[in-house]
Amino acid sequence: MVRDRWVDEQWQWNWDRSMPEGGRTGQQFIDMQQALHQLELSDREDTWQCTLQHDGSFIVACIRKHIDEKTLHSRDTETRWNNLVPIKVNILVWRLRMDRLPTRENLMVRGIDVPSILCPSCRAAMEDTDHVFVKCDIAVQIWKRIFRWIDMDQPMFGVISDVFNWIDVVNVRQKARGVLDAIFISAMWVMWQYRNNVIFGAVTQPA
Ligand SMILES: [Zn+2]
Repeated sequence: MVRDRWVDEQWQWNWDRSMPEGGRTGQQFIDMQQALHQLELSDREDTWQCTLQHDGSFIVACIRKHIDEKTLHSRDTETRWNNLVPIKVNILVWRLRMDRLPTRENLMVRGIDVPSILCPSCRAAMEDTDHVFVKCDIAVQIWKRIFRWIDMDQPMFGVISDVFNWIDVVNVRQKARGVLDAIFISAMWVMWQYRNNVIFGAVTQPA
C-alpha cells in the first residue's frame, strides 16, 4: 500500500527483490522518485482524474482520439486479403507486414524480458521478422521446396517485403496470382506455427 511506503514524512522502499542498477527498471524507479518529489499528500479522499481534459473530466471520445493518435500509423502498404485462406492466416500476414509479430526482437524493443534474442530454430542470429520468414535456414529450405514444387525460378528473398513484391509483379494471370499468394502466406503461417512450437515445447529440435 502507498501508505506503507510513506513513513515519518518520507518515502521508504522495501522491495521483495533487489532494484537493478541502471537499465529500464532502474530508470523507471528514478523517474518515479522524481515524480513523487513534487507530490503533496493530503487527507482528502482519492479521486480519479482524466488528464486529457483540462477540467479532469472523462470523455470517451477524448480517449478514442488519444489511442488513435498513438496507434494508428498511416502506412503506405495496402492491406492484403486472400479469400482462399482462413481469416487467421490473413490476420497473421497483416500483423507480419506491420512488423507486429512478437518475435524476440520485437519483444525486446518493447521492453519485455526475453530469455534470449536468438532465433529459437537455428540459434545463429537475432530473431526478427525477416529472419523467421526469409533468412533462417528452415525458411530458406521451405522457399526452395515451394519453388521447386510450383516449378518457377526462385528469386532472391532478402527481406519479407521481397516476397510480397514478387507476388505482386510476377508474370501470371490474376487467378494464379491469388493461388500463389495463398501458397506463400500459408507457408508463412506454418513457419510461424513451427517457431511457436519450438519455443513452447511441442517440437523437439533435431540435435
Ligand atoms: Zn533461425
